[in-house]
Amino acid sequence: MLSIKNLKASLLDGTQILKGINLDVKPGEVHAIMGINGSGKSTLAKVISGHPAYQVDEGSVELDGKNLLELEPNERANEGFFASTQYPIEIPGVPNVEFLRMAVDSKRTYLKEGPISEEEFSKRLNEAMALLEMDDRYRTRGLNDGFSGGEKKRNEILQMAMLLPKYSFLDETDSGLDIDALRIVSNGINHLHNQNRAVILVTHYERILDLVKPDFIHVLMHGKILMSGGPELALKLEKDGYDWIEGA
Ligand code: ADP
Ligand code: MG
Ligand code: MG
Repeated sequence: MLSIKNLKASLLDGTQILKGINLDVKPGEVHAIMGINGSGKSTLAKVISGHPAYQVDEGSVELDGKNLLELEPNERANEGFFASTQYPIEIPGVPNVEFLRMAVDSKRTYLKEGPISEEEFSKRLNEAMALLEMDDRYRTRGLNDGFSGGEKKRNEILQMAMLLPKYSFLDETDSGLDIDALRIVSNGINHLHNQNRAVILVTHYERILDLVKPDFIHVLMHGKILMSGGPELALKLEKDGYDWIEGA
């Protein structure tokens, strides 16, 4: 289980962004986090990942019983926490395929499994690229270099497919996708999600939740989860917005 308890975190200038987040995510579950811009959704992913722009003031984050907060960012990832960022960065000069191989081998080395064989890597990459309907050109292009917004999001799910993380935090993976790309990305997430792997989906839109069915919806506002519910909550938010939550 990914267990977040009373997590409070600040910018390095002392401004507190996360003001006591409580969230338990069990293997196999799909959680959606919704909330207006600036409420702290992306910050939550970054703090769990160990981004150096934030300091934890209080609380705990445990992944399958391990204290993530005392691990380095790469160790947190290798333990099984995957964060797909809202704005994936471009790294020209690092071919996508080499980046994926390094990421996969880093995790395997951490787990003492030894490097992946060329055959197995190629087979898994071919399957993952077919799943995401990506053609061969994306292997050799620089990581996200010149990729369109939709291609970057697809490439994030390709990384998820190669790493098979236990807990995937997908930050607005649906934003800016056309209908076809949304279908492909959702299909990829559904394919990768199983009883051992959980997904946390940050979204502003109900439409991805028709394709990737959440078990729980949480509303994050002002650095706290102010309300949780089932899928019906997303429909109500789509219809009524967020104003009523604060008075509820
Ligand atoms: P959301 O993802 O919910 O839209 P964010 O987590 O990105 O919101 O941001 C929450 C608040 O924290 C915003 O007011 C944002 O400007 C601020 N914030 C987050 N990270 C930083 C940062 N590195 N430097 C300055 N302000 C930040
Ligand atoms: Mg936002
Ligand atoms: Mg955000």
